Amino acid sequence: MQSTETWYEATAARGPARRALTGGAEAEVCVIGGGLAGLTAALELARRGVSAILLEAKRLAWGASGRNGGFVSNGFAWGMDGIAARLGLEAARDLYRLSCFGTEYVRREIVEGDPSIKMGDGWLGCIRYDNAAERMAEVAAQLRDYGQEKHYLDVAATRALVNTTRYFQSALDPTAFHMHPLRYALMIAAKAEGAGARLFEMSLALEVRKSDAGYRVRTGQGEVSCRDVVYCVSSLDRAIHPPTGRAVVPVATYIAVTEPLTQDAIRTRYALSDSRRAGNYFRLIDEGRLLWGGAITTRVWEPRRLAERMKRDMLSVFPQLGNPRIDYAWAGLMGYARHFMPLIGTDGKGQWWATAFGGHGMNTTAMGGILMARAIAAGDDEYRRFAPFTPQWVGGPFGRAGVQAGYWYLQLKDRLDERRSRRAA
Ligand SMILES: Cc1cc2nc3c(=O)[nH]c(=O)nc-3n(C[C@H](O)[C@H](O)[C@H](O)COP(=O)(O)OP(=O)(O)OC[C@H]3O[C@@H](n4cnc5c(N)ncnc54)[C@H](O)[C@@H]3O)c2cc1C
Repeated sequence: MQSTETWYEATAARGPARRALTGGAEAEVCVIGGGLAGLTAALELARRGVSAILLEAKRLAWGASGRNGGFVSNGFAWGMDGIAARLGLEAARDLYRLSCFGTEYVRREIVEGDPSIKMGDGWLGCIRYDNAAERMAEVAAQLRDYGQEKHYLDVAATRALVNTTRYFQSALDPTAFHMHPLRYALMIAAKAEGAGARLFEMSLALEVRKSDAGYRVRTGQGEVSCRDVVYCVSSLDRAIHPPTGRAVVPVATYIAVTEPLTQDAIRTRYALSDSRRAGNYFRLIDEGRLLWGGAITTRVWEPRRLAERMKRDMLSVFPQLGNPRIDYAWAGLMGYARHFMPLIGTDGKGQWWATAFGGHGMNTTAMGGILMARAIAAGDDEYRRFAPFTPQWVGGPFGRAGVQAGYWYLQLKDRLDERRSRRAA
């Protein structure tokens, strides 16, 4: 279950709902799912002259795409060290380059479409234990291995920006930026329609059947006949395409937004995060409100308890904030594959998928949508770089319990690292 009242919904002009699909319709491609993966695929297909219909079960970007932290940065949900250890440095570099391509695509679409969607530049990643050597080594390795520029900040420089004894050194990524994700998604939708794609809301795809010409995608009131189908449903439907549905675990994460604040705890407009594995991520947004995200679970809490929980986390880092009122608190569902990498591929018979972007989807959904469009429109095969990351069964409810237990273990490790650091201080 995802709660609906988000700060993003309150500050984006959605306009009237698009109509639901009724009766029969034809297109070369039917995209299922109106999050950023599906919307980007529809836009890029249309730009390449391919007729596309997109079916969205509820409202466009109602899922993670319209309710996330809004941080756009290079890389994937899985760290580059893990990817390089599995595939080797050269293949990891190729994937990193694609992830950068996703970031730059989003930046360009905003500049050309509506620059006010961008809310700030730069991402400061702070560590919660004292280890200058480790942070400097990470910064150097990112430059050496991936050409990724980052700037090291020592404890004093970090605390000049974030006034807390919880944080020690930090690294600033000047290539990252943050934005209003729902307004971005709605802009991509408008561009897709401008380029000729047809988008339908309240049109849950119920079934996909093989036909002579390709596929028939059935909704409650209509049916699309198409040559190709692209599944972009994340973890929100695990039945419509069982090979990928079985390979995705739903994982919830949470955001709270305070009342407008007058404060001296956070002195920067950078996007910010800390080193906890299920870490905190936050930023100042319009009117001086603090948007605070964090916690990861395979369950979803009640919103009231959620607001209290998020406030506790916030005050554990910045007690000087006092007792801010929480005006908005919501949950969102991500999709994770067993290997933490996106699932991007095809069965070679006209069915394609771009899903499981995890908690790092703002650049990778753009990249995934474009790879799908290029492959379908022009036979481009760059999507095959994701071939090593095949859909693997995640073990049903036991898989979920395993993911939850894994996070609890990582959270415990974080706390031990931090305690060691406090003792050493
Ligand atoms: C709280 C939160 C914070 C996050 N913060 C960040 C961040 O700061 N930076 C970052 O890079 N990433 C972040 N992420 C991750 C990012 O939001 C996701 O990876 C990304 O939005 C996934 O996009 P998607 O299109 O794959 O899925 P979604 O946005 O979930 O879209 C899937 C869509 O498919 C539709 N659908 C499902 N089944 C059907 C069907 N049968 N028929 C029709 N439609 C269907 C759904 O209704 C939904 O709209 C965050 C995620 C959350 C939840």
